[in-house]
Amino acid sequence: MLKTHMCGNLDSSSINKDVTLAGWVSRRRDHGGLTFIDLRDSSGIIQIVLRNEELNISADNISRIRNEWVIIVHGTIMIRQKGTENKKMKTGLIELIAKEITISNKSNTPPFPINEDIDIDELNRMKYRYLDLRRSKMLNNLKLRHNVTHFIRNFLSSKEFIEIETPILNVATPEGARDYLVPSRVHPGKFYALPQSPQQWKQLLMVGGFEKYFQIARCFRDEDLRSDRQPEFTQLDIEMSFVEQEDILMLIEELFTKMIDKLTPRFSIPKKFPSITYNECIEKYGTDKPDLRFGIEIHDLKKIFLNTEIIIFKKMIDDKKRIRAINIPNGSTLSKKQIKKYNEIAIKYGSKGVASISLDHQIDINNPSMDQVDSLLKQFLSQNELENLIQEMKSEAGDLILISADEVSVTSNILSEIRVLSAELMNLIDYDKLSFCFVTEFPMFEFNKLEDRWTAMHHLFTMPFEEDIHLIDNDPGQVRSHAYDIVCNGQEVGSGSIRIHQADLFLKVLKRLDIDEKIAYEQFEHMIQAFSYGAPPHGGIAPGIDRLVAILAKESDIREVIAFPKTKTAADILTGAPSFVDQKYLDELQLSINEDERQS
Ligand code: ASP
Repeated sequence: MLKTHMCGNLDSSSINKDVTLAGWVSRRRDHGGLTFIDLRDSSGIIQIVLRNEELNISADNISRIRNEWVIIVHGTIMIRQKGTENKKMKTGLIELIAKEITISNKSNTPPFPINEDIDIDELNRMKYRYLDLRRSKMLNNLKLRHNVTHFIRNFLSSKEFIEIETPILNVATPEGARDYLVPSRVHPGKFYALPQSPQQWKQLLMVGGFEKYFQIARCFRDEDLRSDRQPEFTQLDIEMSFVEQEDILMLIEELFTKMIDKLTPRFSIPKKFPSITYNECIEKYGTDKPDLRFGIEIHDLKKIFLNTEIIIFKKMIDDKKRIRAINIPNGSTLSKKQIKKYNEIAIKYGSKGVASISLDHQIDINNPSMDQVDSLLKQFLSQNELENLIQEMKSEAGDLILISADEVSVTSNILSEIRVLSAELMNLIDYDKLSFCFVTEFPMFEFNKLEDRWTAMHHLFTMPFEEDIHLIDNDPGQVRSHAYDIVCNGQEVGSGSIRIHQADLFLKVLKRLDIDEKIAYEQFEHMIQAFSYGAPPHGGIAPGIDRLVAILAKESDIREVIAFPKTKTAADILTGAPSFVDQKYLDELQLSINEDERQS
């Protein structure tokens, strides 16, 4: 090694030791004859003191050293003089008095500062990602990511799981997201698909007799990108045989609680992750990804407005639509502008707006006076309705009730978004809380209006509830499944299910999905066959590593925890991928592309 120690690992126990350190110049300060350098390596930063007259290189050469130059320094660790200590630095009590310095490499002036935590243009960060990675934030995020995967590997190994790699070149499948396709040279005209997840492989491993499998698996989906999506991402893929839903959920709960306790103890997490059914979740929070760091639940108001004079509500009840509301504690303090935002949300989802009922801070909640209510509905709202409403919503003086009346899905979209926005506005969110929960009993099928057919809500290997199987043909919307999600702070962190392991049930589900038997055999013969050779009951889950690490690192964009992510247009501007390739490679693949494309 060109160095004896790492900069950040040294402390007072090394005083008077002779060491050799190597790294990058993070900062340099000249004090006439005396130069200070903050030397950075992957472990941290230490102050180097260069006394011109005591060194092997000239003062002139020292003055030429710039930030990001690579140097190797030999010298003695000393305690800093009283008053010059830096409490903000881990090594702030000591410094290296240099005796010998070697300049190993120079550096151009970086396009952005490495040593400051400032906002940097995104494209520049991506183009010079190797410099961006030198910044302490990125270093810490990737160290955390390593610690997470390391913990997972140890935890699951200790429970007798084994890690098995599965193929990257796969057969294309009809369901799910769009595949990334890879043309085959030896089979002209045919394509491999990159795995959207190792779903089928892990199930085949269960048929293969491995009862506990995991993999830190790279997955690929050709979807439109958002802040929490990348074309390639990483999952902790898990599958187990002879299990029930509860076994998988308990495993994940134990893994997550122990991991967070060890790696990021500053977060508070529930000891037991609550389980909420999908239907209950939609009723209470309007979403299957509820943020449980705060209360504010949705209430149904139909019974309160059954005989109302408020025409719009009356019409909703007659049309079998819903009247639902949330109560925002102390929300009467919100400005008109903020309330306008709520209406914009409602309009975005195709509704006319939300009705607001603001309760004065002086109102007697047990005997409310209409005079202390501010609302456009006021002249039609009866005293009885007001009292029932306050009781139902458990409102206090000063609260704001927001009502959305429309189709159930529209009210869900509106109120779930307003719920989160209000919690932010009213400072109800504790950002050191990780409110994990499991969402269970997802519907097996959902109707896809665009394709005019039923599709699998999780995926087509999901096991329906035994007692709902008879509904598959005639009432698919009512079929519940053994699919579950793990959700944290309003984000889906992973999903999984107990799987179908019998061929006849699988074929029945495929039929419901309008995949006819011929196509079913073409696409899934291997699975149908495998299920016919003593497939054990099995199930699994796949938490997303990128999202999990982002949450633990308090990052809102998963690219902050991926070393070399793609841009929002799925491009890699550092290397230029995707790129055109030479015609000779296309010829080998017997592919041709539209020349206009090449020129654009
Ligand atoms: N393969 C599924 C997915 O990627 C997860 C699972 O069911 O285990 O969403």
